[in-house]
Amino acid sequence: MSKYIVELNSVRKTFGPFTALNDVNLKIEKGEILTLLGPSGCGKTTLMRIIAGFEEPTKGELLIGGVDATHLPPERRSVNMVFQRYALFPHLDVFDNVAFGLRLRNMPEKEVKSKVLAMLHLVQLDSMANRWINELSGGQSQRVALARALVNHPDVLLLDEPLAALDLKIRHHMLKELRRIHDETGTTFVYVTHDQDEAMILSDRVVLMNRGQIEQLGSPQDLYGAPETLFCAKFFGETNILEGQVTGVNGGVADIQSSSILVKGIARKVKEGESVSLSIRPESVNISEVLDGNVHGDVNSIVGTLEDVTFIGSRVVYQVRTGNASTINCQETRPVSGVRHKPGEQVRLSWSPEAVVVLNQ
Ligand code: ATP
Repeated sequence: MSKYIVELNSVRKTFGPFTALNDVNLKIEKGEILTLLGPSGCGKTTLMRIIAGFEEPTKGELLIGGVDATHLPPERRSVNMVFQRYALFPHLDVFDNVAFGLRLRNMPEKEVKSKVLAMLHLVQLDSMANRWINELSGGQSQRVALARALVNHPDVLLLDEPLAALDLKIRHHMLKELRRIHDETGTTFVYVTHDQDEAMILSDRVVLMNRGQIEQLGSPQDLYGAPETLFCAKFFGETNILEGQVTGVNGGVADIQSSSILVKGIARKVKEGESVSLSIRPESVNISEVLDGNVHGDVNSIVGTLEDVTFIGSRVVYQVRTGNASTINCQETRPVSGVRHKPGEQVRLSWSPEAVVVLNQ
């Protein structure tokens, strides 16, 4: 038995002259939560609609459960979808909304009842079976939509920005709920979101898409800690980007001249003489008082003027303008003593070679 529940092989989708998906290869593992992430228009929804059967690929092959499903109608796939706006039936109560699909398949009423009640228990709406849809909060409506999509135990549940209509606090709570419901059912979740935090919190793996192609696929930690492209470094989390040129590579460490400073970083695929971009996450940058001014030949360290301080509860973000007119952000956990530096101060920024991701341009 294959460990993959869905496989896309060289899937292309064009709309007239426009290519929405460009030879996408993707294997989705049974039971995982896989998130599709990327800028607007990169093809996330199109990819999901192809798995659901609402669109057919222009070229390529789709396997579900190891079987060719490229041209299979949606109702013959073991796949359900939850939409952003829930698409519940307003003229039916909660119970009848969840029961709808089962009754359509002429399931005996006794069985319908036990399945619907089990699902309402799963989404913690046991006491709401007879409520009308317009009497529910956004979070409760989302739970009904989930119960309705899971009641016939699909192999794959597609969730298209399911939390976008909810406010922040409920969204965070619903993320935990989604994880619990996923773990209890063992269903494979394919999740589309614009929100990187959601992707990081929820996903086993993230597919970062860009212009109809997969830019990078990996765990949230992989994408954040080891981006393979400049696009990924910039899109997934905040980062500082410096430009430079490789002046040497020794023992896996690259020396990069970036304006007036020498940066040492972990070298992966770069060679001497190449122009590169450097990604350094704000939380990897240390900020301190200037004791010695700008020293010629400073390594992984630069002096600058603190321009802006943003206090975000547990964190402080310092924005520093450096001599070569670029801005570097530094983020630190707020010390008990409070914010340590003020705008206008000269400060020294420094970071370790392990914090520098060296990227080909
Ligand atoms: P968003 O995050 O904004 O929802 P997305 O990543 O989900 O974007 P898609 O909806 O998959 O992007 O669209 C990918 C591209 O394909 C877009 O440029 C879109 O305009 C185009 N597209 C999608 N559906 C059609 C269609 N039926 N006809 C023509 N173009 C389409």
